[in-house]
Amino acid sequence: MKLFEQQELSIYNSLTKKKEKLQPIHEGAIGMYVCGPTVYSNVHLGNCRTFLSFDLVFRYLKHLGYKVRYVRNITDAGHLENDGESGDDPILKKARIEQLEPMEVVQKYSVDFHNVMAKFNALPPSIEPTATGHIIEQIKIVEDIIAKGYAYEKNGSVYFDVVKFNEDHTYGKLSGRQLEDMIANTRELAAQSEKKNPQDFALWKKAEPQHIMRWPSPWSDGFPGWHLECTAMSTKYLGNHFDIHGGGMDLKFPHHECEIAQAEASNNQSPVNYWMHANMLTLNGKKMAKSTGNNILPNELFSGDNSILSKAYAPTVAKFFMYQAHYRSILDFSNDALEASEKGYFRLMDAYRSLSSLTASGTESSFDIAGWRQSCYDAMNDDFNSPILIAQLFEATKYINALKEGTATISESDLELLQNTMHDFLFDVLGLVDQIAEGDGDSNKLSGVVELLISLRNEARANKDFATSDKIRDQLLEMGIQLKDGKDGTTYSLN
Ligand code: AMP
Ligand code: ZN
Repeated sequence: MKLFEQQELSIYNSLTKKKEKLQPIHEGAIGMYVCGPTVYSNVHLGNCRTFLSFDLVFRYLKHLGYKVRYVRNITDAGHLENDGESGDDPILKKARIEQLEPMEVVQKYSVDFHNVMAKFNALPPSIEPTATGHIIEQIKIVEDIIAKGYAYEKNGSVYFDVVKFNEDHTYGKLSGRQLEDMIANTRELAAQSEKKNPQDFALWKKAEPQHIMRWPSPWSDGFPGWHLECTAMSTKYLGNHFDIHGGGMDLKFPHHECEIAQAEASNNQSPVNYWMHANMLTLNGKKMAKSTGNNILPNELFSGDNSILSKAYAPTVAKFFMYQAHYRSILDFSNDALEASEKGYFRLMDAYRSLSSLTASGTESSFDIAGWRQSCYDAMNDDFNSPILIAQLFEATKYINALKEGTATISESDLELLQNTMHDFLFDVLGLVDQIAEGDGDSNKLSGVVELLISLRNEARANKDFATSDKIRDQLLEMGIQLKDGKDGTTYSLN
């Protein structure tokens, strides 16, 4: 029996604004699409938070035994501010600044994105399509929408006719915006635009002479609109009607609203059953964003090279910090909060490690392990509530510590259940990494060497040879190994 047959998972659906029981379209299988990055600069931690939120979703669905097809695209063309009426393609802009071919920009930042995701131990998606690899599919959808009467051509560009669409469908159902209100608020902006209405959006844009990323089409040499890319790539790999579509909260409008409109216009059916939106990571109370410079890059965090940080933090600690907040809550980034998370992370890992040296202490357990295990599932079944899950893992940590001190008891079968459950949630579901215990033979050797240096440093300190003890601490720190003196002795972390 698969776990999903025993566990009832509810997902908060941004479309209906309710938590709903997950009912896959095809039994035992889930199709999930998540909007990927626009690759014209390094991803910042805010972007990472959204992708890690969906890594958790992917991992938990897989853990429950679903066959998940997870599609996350790369936007390598067409992501224009305001349909190009107030700016150029950011990839082209960057190519000019860095004196690169646009596809070199795309490659450079796609590689950075993949490296960062790997450092966070995020699983790669099942399919990672690029917008430029799906131009034919996008042209086909534009043709369909024109044929249905919901788009029009103007000077070689094609726009989606929102007013016409709204006569037969509802535009604004995801964001809760009313078309009449949107029109009333933007009336005077309409003047020199090619669009019939400012709410119309580009499906295809004719390329200006300087725009070198261009493809032939029935309307002009040009490029597709950003919203269209996701409709083309999601429906190509998941079908016209699929289970889950995700992205950051800021993509709800207009991006996802437009995706719904395009899909309904071409297929006459709602494309997605569950819309999921991850909330923002903020810095100093403001959204982390590429455009404002209010952001921290993952590598600045891993190296500690940023004025906000007092030291370096391991990727797995940063991930743990993010999962201590629910994905639909705003999370503010700060050194203090990270430091607190790091302590918690070490406590959990210490407890997990000590489990392997524990033995059964009787036939009865003084803690309801089966009930606790179900509480872990209940947390995740309630719209992926990772902070509640982590609180449950801390409950188990208290019990493990009591077992170590001999003030609690555990039976043999419960010990195995506790070990397996801790392992499943820490490593499979949350995707954390134990920097110290896990890893290959080399990291175990490294661990032995560091422990040896810690004991030499303790001897030096006992002999009041502070020059030597400081030298050991400082030189280890330079190598990215940080020693921490606590009341139970010295521990270390790898930065
Ligand atoms: P972009 O490359 O700008 O298309 O963004 C990639 C993803 O990161 C999108 O899903 C955005 O919603 C998300 N994102 C951007 N800024 C933040 C932030 N500060 N916190 C969380 N997610 C973000
Ligand atoms: Zn998208």
